[in-house]
Amino acid sequence: MVNLIASVANTVSDHPDEPAIVTDDQTLTYEDLWAQISGFAGGLAERDVGEDDRVAVYLPNVPQFVVAFHGTLMAGGVVVPMNPQYRAREISHLLADSGAKVVVTLPDLVPFVEEVRDETDVEHVVTLGTEGGIFFGDFLAEGDGEIAERADDDLAVQPYTSGTTGTPKGVELTHENLTSNAEASAELVPGGIGTDDSLLGVLPLFHIYGMTVCMNGTLFRGGAFYPLPTWDAQQALSVVEDAELTIMHGVPAMYNDVINQPNAAEFDLSSLRLAGVGGGGIPIEVLRRFEELYDAKIYEGYGLTETSPVTHFNTPEDGRRVGSIGTTIQGVSARVVNGEFEEQPPVAEGPLAEGDAELDDVTGEIVVAGPNVMQGYAGLPDATDAAFTEADERRWFHTGDIGYWDEDGFFYVVDRKKHMINTAGYNVYPREVEELLFEHEAVADAAVVGIPDDRRNETVKAFVVPVPDADITVDEIQEFCLDKLAAYKHPREVAFVEELPRTTTGKVQKFELVEQG
Ligand code: ATP
Repeated sequence: MVNLIASVANTVSDHPDEPAIVTDDQTLTYEDLWAQISGFAGGLAERDVGEDDRVAVYLPNVPQFVVAFHGTLMAGGVVVPMNPQYRAREISHLLADSGAKVVVTLPDLVPFVEEVRDETDVEHVVTLGTEGGIFFGDFLAEGDGEIAERADDDLAVQPYTSGTTGTPKGVELTHENLTSNAEASAELVPGGIGTDDSLLGVLPLFHIYGMTVCMNGTLFRGGAFYPLPTWDAQQALSVVEDAELTIMHGVPAMYNDVINQPNAAEFDLSSLRLAGVGGGGIPIEVLRRFEELYDAKIYEGYGLTETSPVTHFNTPEDGRRVGSIGTTIQGVSARVVNGEFEEQPPVAEGPLAEGDAELDDVTGEIVVAGPNVMQGYAGLPDATDAAFTEADERRWFHTGDIGYWDEDGFFYVVDRKKHMINTAGYNVYPREVEELLFEHEAVADAAVVGIPDDRRNETVKAFVVPVPDADITVDEIQEFCLDKLAAYKHPREVAFVEELPRTTTGKVQKFELVEQG
């Protein structure tokens, strides 16, 4: 039987005195952390919260997130992580849908919970202790310190999709799903994460990337985790430099922010042995500029909440292909399918050239199977059925991403299916246009969307954030694209904006740009 917290328990017994969580104010060893986790589980048990009960963790990246997360698992409960940027309207669906009995949060966020509490089953709102230490104060209770017994396919965490295309769906992730993926995550660096490793914990912990790859991958192997509650490029770079961290992970927007810092070149990141990126495709130009600035290489991976999350990664040991999401990780299988679940043959060459006629023939939807793939969407059997195809005695999950693969098993993501623009009968994948825009020296950030248009169905429109003080015009952007892209892919409209609307996880909210028109 697999239990997510059992792997942390192993670390605690092997390395009790190693630092587990490090912040500006304090260092918690694994033994200290375990005492807090056990106390939290005891506090839940005392209030009759136990097996299968949902505990909503509505916190930023503070040490207490780790305590509440693993304390809930110790008690046999299911963690429902909630974005701390969410407000009453957004949390009401998550709380009601999950049936959460407990909410763990910051004092400042309590009013949002209270506002919607009547519509939910919430019995206890637990806040961080304000007196007598930074932890949960008198909520903690002496428990028996025992880990509740759970089966491999019992739920451990139920995160919600971000809901950009409808009501957020609860994703049912089991102990096996999350344990297998955290184990695999710990192996993404050569030799695996060890007690000499330290990891920048700036990706939000409520999101699966921060939760599995950063937090659990580190705790499974006795590394030191440095949580940061908010993204601030200067702060993140200083922490990596000062504490000589060995691993960082970020979304593309973070790396883009780093390279656009005026003093970027002054930081020394040579302690890093892995800089990972995922959650979106990193523009090649951003990767190139980061690597020019620092003695570090970026390794790209891919995954979704529904896959716990990692399915693919470029590992240092197997080499990497820039522009690729890498090969499937241990235990995970992937295919590219088209039409009637027909497997697309691999292409011999690596990244296909822009406008390559071959592209349409070899692309399809990426589907994946493995121990990390979710059970389903909570209470939504139809949505669950629609997300899977049973074939060759496996359950293949449809990622909604269009891609292709090469003969060495490296996969490439072209774009999200739902982002494809249809203009005058042609299909345009925004990412290709965005990659080009990033090559312009006056462009700091860019996103491309299809704007509804009576004549063409959709018009390709680029939203561009210029670098500070850049003297750039719409005509220049359009001219820049002239000989580099087929005419139908050109951004017929270009808007300069100060910043792009992004989610907390760094994704451009394209629907907002479409609404802006
Ligand atoms: P929702 O599914 O509700 O819209 P979301 O986009 O935040 O929310 P996640 O599970 O966080 O959902 O993101 C998964 C998606 O992120 C993938 O389907 C893919 O489109 C994108 N993605 C992740 N890694 C990469 C990558 N390396 N390259 C391109 N796209 C990626």
